Amino acid sequence: MKANCWIAPNSLAVEDVPDPQILNPRDAILRITSSAICGSDLHLLNGFIPAMRKGDILGHEFMGEIVELGQGVRDGLSVGDRVVVGFPIACGDCISCQRGLYSICENSNPNAAIAEAAMGHSPAGIFGYSHLLGGYAGGQAQYVRVPFADVGALKIEDDLPDEQVLFLSDVLPTGYMAAEMCDIKRGDIIAIWGAGPVGQLAAASAFLLGAERVIVIDRYPYRLRMVRENTGAETINYEESDVPDALREMTAGRGPDGCIDAVGMEGHHASAALHAYDRAKQAAKVETDRPHALREAVLACRNGGTISAVGAYGGFIDKFPMGSFMNRSLTMRSGQAHVQRYMRPLLERIRKGEIDPSFIITHTMRLDDTPQGYDIFKSKQEDCVKVVLKP
Ligand code: NAD
Ligand code: ZN
Ligand code: ZN
Repeated sequence: MKANCWIAPNSLAVEDVPDPQILNPRDAILRITSSAICGSDLHLLNGFIPAMRKGDILGHEFMGEIVELGQGVRDGLSVGDRVVVGFPIACGDCISCQRGLYSICENSNPNAAIAEAAMGHSPAGIFGYSHLLGGYAGGQAQYVRVPFADVGALKIEDDLPDEQVLFLSDVLPTGYMAAEMCDIKRGDIIAIWGAGPVGQLAAASAFLLGAERVIVIDRYPYRLRMVRENTGAETINYEESDVPDALREMTAGRGPDGCIDAVGMEGHHASAALHAYDRAKQAAKVETDRPHALREAVLACRNGGTISAVGAYGGFIDKFPMGSFMNRSLTMRSGQAHVQRYMRPLLERIRKGEIDPSFIITHTMRLDDTPQGYDIFKSKQEDCVKVVLKP
C-alpha cells in the first residue's frame, strides 16, 4: 500500500510499504477513505517530538471501512462497517479507561517506560505519533491497523458524509473538551488563543455549551475571518493589539471567565519543549519574540476563572506566572483529548444539526500529494486551515 512516511526532520515521502496485518485479537484493519493533517503532525514533522524513525507512517485523524477483524473484537463491529477512529489507543479496561480518561490508558503504550524517562510522563499510545507514544503506524495511508477496535472505532451510518464525521477522530472532541473544561455558565465570556482547527471548533463548542461571547486570538486575518463567519466569535489580532489590554477592555475590566490555549508549543517555544529532560531544561530558557499564549491566558483570565490548555506541550515551559495563578484562585485543566468519551454524544449533535465541523476544511488532496499538504498547512499558504487526504 501507499503511505505518507516521515523520512527526516522536515522531510516526508509517500512510499510503498507492506500492508498492515492483524497482530492482536482485538485489532481491525481499515481501508481508509479520509484522513487529515493535524497541528500535532507539525510537531512530529519538525522533530520537536522525538523518536520518529525513517519510514514511520504519520496520521491520527482518519476513517474508513473495516476490511478485516480479529477474533477477539468484542461487540458491534463487522467487516464492511464504516467507522471513524479516535486518536488515542485505549484498552477500555484499565483504571484510566474506566474513568473515561482514554488518552492516559495504561495498556496501550508498549514504550511507556521509555516515554517516562524521556519526557517525565507517559500518555497512551497514539497512531502515527513517534515511538515514545507506542510506535503505531498512522492513518495517512491506504490501510491501517486499529488496536482495541471495539473501543476506538465508532460505527457511522451511510447518510453522513466523511467530511461531517471525520473530525470525531480528534479536533472536534479536542475543541469540545477544551470548552467543557471551562465549566461554562450562561453569560460567560470565553477567550481562545489560536484560530487553527482546534481553536475554531473550541469556539463553536463554547457557544454550544452556553457561552454568551467568544473571543478568538491569532495573527492570521483569514483564520480570524473564518472563525467570525462560521461561529459568531469576536477576534483579536495579536500583531495589532496588546491581547491582555484588549481582553480587559472587551470584558468590562474583569477578564474572560474561561481561557483556552489552543496553540501549544510554537516557534522558539517548541524548541523549549522536548527531546529529553536536560535539553528541555536548557531550551526552556530560550525566549521568544512572540507572546506566549499560555502565559497570556493566565494573566488575562478573570479572578476565579479557568484556564483550559489543550495545545500540545512536552517538557518544560518557562516563566509560568504562578503568583497570579495562585493569588487569583485560578483553575487549570488540561489533557490530550479523551476522544472516545465524546465520540457518541458529538455524533448525536452532528446528526441533530447542532454542530457541523466540516466548515474547517479548506483543502482536499490525494494521498500522493500529502507532503505538499503539509507545506501549505505549515506555512499557512492558500488560506489553509485543514487538509483532508483521500487515499
Ligand atoms: P494550528 O497550527 O493550525 O493552529 C495553531 C494556531 O495558533 C495558528 O493559527 C497560530 O497562528 C496560532 N498562534 C500561534 N501563537 C499564538 C499566540 N501567541 N497567540 C494566539 N495564537 C497563536 O494547529 P491546530 O490543529 O489547531 O492545533 C492546535 C494545538 O492543539 C496544537 O498544539 C496541537 O498539537 C494541539 N492538539 C491537541 C490535542 C489534544 O488532544 N489536546 C488534539 C489536537 C491538537
Ligand atoms: Zn491531532
Ligand atoms: Zn486502558
